[in-house]
Amino acid sequence: MCSEPKPTILFTKGEIETTVRRLAGEISRDYRGKYPLLIGVLKGSFMFMADLIRLLDFPLEVEFIRLSSYGKDKESSGKVKVVQGLRSQIKGRDVLVIEDIVDTGLTTAFLLDYLQKKKPASLRLCSLTDKPSRRKAPVIIDYLGFTVPNKFLVGYGLDWNEKFRNLPDIGVLEDEE
Ligand code: 5GP
Ligand code: MG
Repeated sequence: MCSEPKPTILFTKGEIETTVRRLAGEISRDYRGKYPLLIGVLKGSFMFMADLIRLLDFPLEVEFIRLSSYGKDKESSGKVKVVQGLRSQIKGRDVLVIEDIVDTGLTTAFLLDYLQKKKPASLRLCSLTDKPSRRKAPVIIDYLGFTVPNKFLVGYGLDWNEKFRNLPDIGVLEDEE
């Protein structure tokens, strides 16, 4: 069996907590009293979503959507499709999409367009991380955690071949090729 790559820590658990707290403050300020629908993009956003909503002390709903865009390795296939859809009504709701990362932006741009067609009252995006150097499709991030370098991130929900999602920190995998 080949040896596992070892991530180098980029953001510690503590730094992530501080950032999630800041985002929760910004979201609370804008959504308190609105009964928003938060849509997490699986699988990468599950841990961020879980931590974020614990800090939101007003009524809201949680949904998840699963999209496929990545192949097995570190490169996006560029094609996006909905693998597991939504059960909630979007029409007329204040929708906040919760992403782990906006990289090329292709996935998020597709999702925002898909949701906009369902006529929400409002539609905004919260992303834990942003890798602007790789952008191919323009995306406005209303609530952003960290801007990150052009490296492959793992941990805190983010995977490499389904591994490392359980790391409490966010690390980077250096290219070994
Ligand atoms: P995009 O369409 O913006 O290129 O990225 C779509 C998805 O690819 C992200 O939601 C995420 O699941 C995955 N992705 C992009 N960059 C990274 C990264 O650095 N690490 C991991 N683990 N996934 C990434
Ligand atoms: Mg994602």
